[in-house]
Amino acid sequence: MKHAVGIDIGGTKISAVLLRTDGQTIKYRLFSTPKHGTSAITEAISKAVTSVCEDPTSLSGIGIAAAGLIDRGSGTAIRGVNVGWENMPIVTSLTNRFQVPCILENDCNAAAWGEYQFGASKTSTSSLFITIGTGIGGGIIDNGRLVIGHNGYAGEIGHTLVAPSGPTCKCGSRGCLEAVASGTAIERNGRNSNPDGIDPDSITANTVAQAYAGGEQWALKIWADAVYHIALALVSARRLLSPDIIVVGGGVAEAGDVLISPLRTDFARLSSDSISNSQSASQLLQPSALGAMAGAIGAAALILSPPPGFKATHY
Ligand SMILES: [Zn+2]
Repeated sequence: MKHAVGIDIGGTKISAVLLRTDGQTIKYRLFSTPKHGTSAITEAISKAVTSVCEDPTSLSGIGIAAAGLIDRGSGTAIRGVNVGWENMPIVTSLTNRFQVPCILENDCNAAAWGEYQFGASKTSTSSLFITIGTGIGGGIIDNGRLVIGHNGYAGEIGHTLVAPSGPTCKCGSRGCLEAVASGTAIERNGRNSNPDGIDPDSITANTVAQAYAGGEQWALKIWADAVYHIALALVSARRLLSPDIIVVGGGVAEAGDVLISPLRTDFARLSSDSISNSQSASQLLQPSALGAMAGAIGAAALILSPPPGFKATHY
């Protein structure tokens, strides 16, 4: 059976999987991303590859999922917010080093493809994946195709406009979903609320989620506000794309029912119209099946079962 390695490079962590064609994960390893220096990060990625496969020449290839901007044509991870690399020609580096085909994709698109091949959306035809973590990203599958749009940036649901008079986003626009509902935004709002008896600096999105679940007054509006804005974006996205499933992943989504339950309620309330009544919010909105491994599994799946039109670069 064929095998591929999938690497997911984020600002803080590098995940590596060795995946079999049937979706079985043979090995999974997690490393810290070096803070700075494209060459240090390239070296860390090479080590991550050999940590899950001692003989990479036996592989069908290596798929890489990277946060931030990428150039698919040249296989270069360009840059991103909170990432330590700049113009990293990762596909060239890995093909030269390991002499197997390699492919680079945006991390959210890779995760969407992973969920479609082996996770929550594998029986669907058209799906939307949203990842809610430090930032908010997304990926669209339409009739078995990974949608990238004319410039490669389709699926950027984190930068859809949900609060025109809201805070400025890291992308420079104002009121993006990411600026009001990401883990970073929830953490910021939690700290600014300065709740009694809690050191504001200790508050994270997870603290807010737990406090909301426990009915603590200070957290109710903050969490509910984030959920509401995510629901707003998803209702619009659903009307635009008509997916048969919306998969919700990312670190903030690991709160489980604390997120998905009020999200389904808001989604149903906001979408009570004739377009949306065919499928209930609890059927449509589903948690990620692959969790933190979605990006790496999806990256390996880009090699083992590539989306139509996607081709790995050969050495
Ligand atoms: Zn933005």
